[in-house]
Parts: sequence; C-alpha cells; structure tokens
Amino acid sequence: MPAAPLPARLGRLLLLGALAAGLVSCRASDVALDAPTATTAPAETTTTTTTAPAATGVAGDPGVGDPYFPELGNGGYDVARYHIDLEWLPDEGAIDAVTTIELTPTVDLDTFNLDLVGLDVSSVTVDGEPSPITRAGRELAIDPDAVLIAGEATEVVVTYRGVPQPISLGSDVFGAGWQTDGREAYVVSEPAGAATWYPANDHPTDKALFTFELTVPADQVAVANGVLVDERTEPDGRRTWIWRAADPMATYLASIVVGDLVIERTTAPTGLPLRDAYPPEHAAGAQELFGRTGEMVATFEEWFGPYPFEVYGHVVVDEALGFALENQTLSLFGTDLLGAGGAGERTVAHELAHQWYGNAVSPASWRDIWLNEGFATYAEWIWLQEAYGQPIERSAERAHAGADYGVAPGDPGNEELFQPTVYIRGGLALHALSVAMGDEAFRALLREWPQRFHDQAASTEDLRALAEELSGQDLAPVFDAWVHGTELPPFPG
Ligand SMILES: [Zn+2]
Repeated sequence: MPAAPLPARLGRLLLLGALAAGLVSCRASDVALDAPTATTAPAETTTTTTTAPAATGVAGDPGVGDPYFPELGNGGYDVARYHIDLEWLPDEGAIDAVTTIELTPTVDLDTFNLDLVGLDVSSVTVDGEPSPITRAGRELAIDPDAVLIAGEATEVVVTYRGVPQPISLGSDVFGAGWQTDGREAYVVSEPAGAATWYPANDHPTDKALFTFELTVPADQVAVANGVLVDERTEPDGRRTWIWRAADPMATYLASIVVGDLVIERTTAPTGLPLRDAYPPEHAAGAQELFGRTGEMVATFEEWFGPYPFEVYGHVVVDEALGFALENQTLSLFGTDLLGAGGAGERTVAHELAHQWYGNAVSPASWRDIWLNEGFATYAEWIWLQEAYGQPIERSAERAHAGADYGVAPGDPGNEELFQPTVYIRGGLALHALSVAMGDEAFRALLREWPQRFHDQAASTEDLRALAEELSGQDLAPVFDAWVHGTELPPFPG
C-alpha cells in the first residue's frame, strides 16, 4: 500500500481528519442487523420411501482463520468470479447494486457466509432459488434451499442498496472501504474494506476474476481494475462503464473510482498498455508524476521478470489522501503526490512493484504484510540505483540509520499493520538476505517468487523455503534476526 515515507504520520492525520469529519464509524456496532429475508421453501414431496440418505452438509466457517483478522473471509468454498453491477447515486450518497458470485464449494455446504458491512440486502438467490439470510456484524449468512455439493459450480446473486459505511480496523484508516466527498467516490480497501461495497469472500487467499458494470451520472467517469470493455448510455441519460480484470485478484485490490476524470492511454517500451485517469485540472501534474512509469516497467521486468497483468496505470482522486494504494493494474493516488518530486516518483515505483509483490503474489495472512511492503521498499532502492546511480546498499544503509525499528516486521500487530518497520525493516531484511545469499541467488529469488506463487498467496515460510532452495543455505538465522526478532540487527556486510 502506501509508500514508506508517508503512511504512519499522514495516515494518522487522515484518520484524525476523517474522525473529525464523522467519516469513520466504529464498524460492527453500528452495522444494521437486517431481519432475515423471509422466503418459503417449496414443500418437499415425500410420496415415496427411499433408502438414499438426505444430503447433508456443514456450515461454512465465518472466517478463514487469519491470525490478525479472524472474521475476514469465509470457509467452505472458492470464488471464481465476481460481477459487480453497481449504480452510484451521488445525490443520496448511495449505491444500488447486484453482485453475482460464481463459487465452488470445497465441502458439502448446508449454509455459508459472505462478508458484507451495512447496506440493505433485498434478496439473495443461490442457483436461481431465493435463499433466507441472517446478518450479524460483517457476516451475511446464507441458507440455501438445497445442500451445495462440493465441486459443483454455484451462482449466488446478492441484490442490495444503501449508503456505504466506512469502517476502521485498529488505528489504520486504510481499510476503510468506500469513500466519498459527495460527488466523487473511491475505495480504499486494504485490508478489510471491500465488504463495505460488495459481498465478498474477503481475504487475499481467495482470489477471483472481476467484472464491473458501473452506472454513473452522465457528467462523471467510472474507472476500475483491468480493461474498459464497453460503455453505453442508459435510457435516462446516465453512462455505464464496463471494466474487466482478466487475472485473479484479491478482494481488497478491487477498485472503482467515480469522478470528473479524463483517461489517457500510452504504451510502455515493453509494449504494456498503460492508462491513467485524473481530473482534467491536474493533467500536467499527473503527466509529470507518472511520466517515467514505462521506464520503470522495463527496469522492473529486468529485475522481477514479466509484468504479471494485462495493463497498468494510475487514477488520481481529487483529494490529498496522504498515501497511495497499489490496486491491481490501477494504483490509487491523491493530489498530494502531484508535484512531490522525488518522493512522488519513489511512490510510483513502489506501487508498480506491488503488482509483482503483493498483487500477483498475495500475503497468505495479514501478518505477512511485510512481504508486500518490504519488497516494494526494496524496489524503490532498485529504482534509485537504476535511474540515478545510487547503489542499493547506500539506500539501505541510510534507511538502517534512520530509526530503531524495534518491532519485528514479521509480526507488527493488527493495530499497526502499516507501521514503518514493515516497510523499512522489511526492505532491510531483503537486503540482509541478498548479502547472505549472494547477488546471483538473490536476483534469482526476486524473479522466482512472482513466478512460482503467481495468482496465489504465500507466506514468510514460503519465502524462506524458496531462498534456501535457491541458495542451498540455512537462512533461518537471517529470518530470525531480521523478520522475527524485535531488536534491529547491525547493518549487514
Ligand atoms: Zn506499499
């Protein structure tokens, strides 16, 4: 998510501002508990006796067991695709949406859950049959008429409407979900905000394909992850923008932005299509900030291997966010990084690097967040070396001298998920690994990690195992000292 120099301080400022403005609510306690949707199950015909036992299933778990956020995600199924058909109604600050979820049970399911925060659910169907629901906190429990059979694809359609309510987990504002200033709308979902605007299996271990069908006022533009595949004018004059993300994506990276935007398309030297969206009055600043993206893609392909998705670019919201966020194929920026010079350019490199580290390879749990941020910080140092001749070791040495970082990046706690140690000491851990492994084996690790775990989630233990495989060394001492130990080790070398 955000680049190293920004998140802690500015994030808190943003949180304070949001609290002062009444934008951040206290999550579950003020989530409305909707009454179950009453549906009548068709009467079963029991005119014959049969020896076949009635199909029975289990209740899907209400969480995937994340050590930091146990309520995130759900057990018992795997989502293949989300189709989010959403109308933005700025006069009401509301959304009116139908999300279709294609999922496959991994066990026979009697009931199962989705994550959804607030909003009024008017109906849920499972394979076309209306299904009763119950709601509690962020859990939307669905009780289909028939047991869902393991391995058989199932279609769930959730129809809902309401004013999305941002949430806060711990002291981090970044997971707040849906945001609006009245006209413009955008989402900031890492780690837990996706459920504020669509029903989801909201954990990075269940990636899926996404399509967005976004209907907005005629004078607004809607952008989302992936490629614009169609747009149309509705009978009432509104515009519908259809975006499709063709590669599996974690739920928190699903992103839409609605606003007064222009879309600019270019191509990287590698041939990768690039598209940026920004308010027209910020065109010059955006073109300056993102002007070296194509070069960065080429540089990082040399270091990390092929860019993992079909397209890349940025969207600028007309607000000083205090951070940036690496939404898949469409990183989110605020106006505060326009004109920010080197800090802005480093942030552009940082969010681009996340497409390999964090997006193509997701963290297996939120405790592994340093895998996202350590690699992205190290990538900033790579860019400084390749573009400006400042050796990586020099950047690392400066970072090491900058603070004590006396918290283990491998266990920052769920209240301070994005604290500086996750970024800086995370990057330093990779530098220490490069010193221990040797340059050749470490460069192989940088390339192999996004290849081997592409479209999957991976853990700190997976990284250690791969590093040991590639180097033939026991690297436990490096991980123990740099990732799991509290005290900052001396600078390696
Ligand atoms: Zn980041």
